[in-house]
Amino acid sequence: MTDQYIMALDQGTTSTRAILFDHSGTAIATAQKELPQIFRESGWVEHDATKIWDDARQVMAEVVIQANVAPYKVAGIGITNQRETTIIWDRKTGEPISSAIVWQSKQTSQIAEELKKQGLTELVHEKTGLWIDAYFSATKIMWLLENIPGARQKAEAGELLFGTVDTWLLYKLTNGAIHASDMTNASRTMLYNIHTLDWDDKLLELFDIPRAMLPKVQESSSNFGYTADFAFFGIQVPITGIAGDQQAALIGHKAFNVGDVKNTFGTGSFIVMNTGDHVAQSNNGLLSTIAYSINGEVRYALEGSVFVAGAAVQWLRDGLNLIKSAKDTSDMAQRGYEQHPEPVYLVPAFSGLGAPYWDQQARGAMFGLTRATTKNDLVRATLDSLAYQTRDVLTVMAEDTAIDLSSLVIDGGGAANDYLHQFQADLLQMEVTRPKQVETTALGAAFLAGLGVGYWASVADLPDASEVIVRQPEYAKAEERERAYLGWKKAIAATQFFK
Ligand code: ADP
Repeated sequence: MTDQYIMALDQGTTSTRAILFDHSGTAIATAQKELPQIFRESGWVEHDATKIWDDARQVMAEVVIQANVAPYKVAGIGITNQRETTIIWDRKTGEPISSAIVWQSKQTSQIAEELKKQGLTELVHEKTGLWIDAYFSATKIMWLLENIPGARQKAEAGELLFGTVDTWLLYKLTNGAIHASDMTNASRTMLYNIHTLDWDDKLLELFDIPRAMLPKVQESSSNFGYTADFAFFGIQVPITGIAGDQQAALIGHKAFNVGDVKNTFGTGSFIVMNTGDHVAQSNNGLLSTIAYSINGEVRYALEGSVFVAGAAVQWLRDGLNLIKSAKDTSDMAQRGYEQHPEPVYLVPAFSGLGAPYWDQQARGAMFGLTRATTKNDLVRATLDSLAYQTRDVLTVMAEDTAIDLSSLVIDGGGAANDYLHQFQADLLQMEVTRPKQVETTALGAAFLAGLGVGYWASVADLPDASEVIVRQPEYAKAEERERAYLGWKKAIAATQFFK
């Protein structure tokens, strides 16, 4: 099988990618399409589900052509996806009834607030490991059933299907034959009981969501079905791995031991720690979730979800026109630091604050501006905020688990930023490592699919990252960074004045 390949289909918030991996875990080709964001109303974020499928099909075809690999050489397909994003479609026609509601979207904040007022916080947390928020799929399903004319009746009659993006793509790839998901994605819906490993009847009743809409839930590494005739060069390729993007990244780092922790700097920032075979509870607003399930073994994780990370860099580029490209920010921030060591702070609470604060009302702010403040200082403040938010989460994670963290692995678009990489190490006073190939999420999906199809025999057989870049903390900077962090905590407190 070593002359074959595994394909990862990575459907993220801002793009859809297909990547071919060889047996050594090296990405040999990538095809990508940007995904437009739809902002119909303030605070809403939506995607066109039909476009997501069209793009997926296109990049899957493109990547094998680009790599000059015969399609039958693809031994298996793994899907990884933006999580929580909610799609409902018609069982008969396969057509979505509306746009996909994206994880970041705030259109269901009101519903989330009402659920909290009903005193459901503890019950929901106990069953799902999640804290009630518009972020998860449940309130998005409730909203669609409520707001799309005729949806509720059709759903009751069993005519509508719900899926996160993995389920949608699987359904389309199998030409409607399979309606399934994996445990990691199910654990983000706020409907899945992470202890019993089943949809929770009590929650379905409370939220008024018909069970018939929900997909069958399988292990992350298992046979989900085969590509239908028209989907991939008329070849039936098994789809043998599915995981939500953050869990896939954990797997891509081979973070299989208790206490292993990774941070992905993507649109948001997601810090995930493997907590082994028991559900670790947080007293500090972290989520308990399913890390993966392979060979009948379920592993859990604690997660800190930070909503705005790379999105703040996008804002510098597209909102403020302050930079041309995200790539420029590393040098600019470094110059800013050298010119004015005293920090300016940006709290990027553009859509409230996620972990560990969970404040839907907080809004962004800047502090410490003077007449001498330059563009470079603002760029630095933005990158610094990514690292501060990571420290906020790691601090409570260590408290909740009583595990003394000694190192961190990072990936995602922002991980390629040298200034951020070093600042993160200095701020944590901890070694921070990133793989040179930062497609860790896709690699994780490929690992799951490869294990599912016997391409790699077992977890022990998975290849190591070919090259890593390690940054050691500068110990001389410890005190200065500590002072800066205290300033950050004050800035955070000040942005929560609506509370
Ligand atoms: P997603 O999967 O959420 O779409 P990616 O992992 O592809 O995210 O990362 C894209 C994000 O990373 C964007 O928000 C972008 O602004 C940010 N980004 C990309 N390159 C850099 C860089 N060199 N420095 C800082 N941020 C970056």
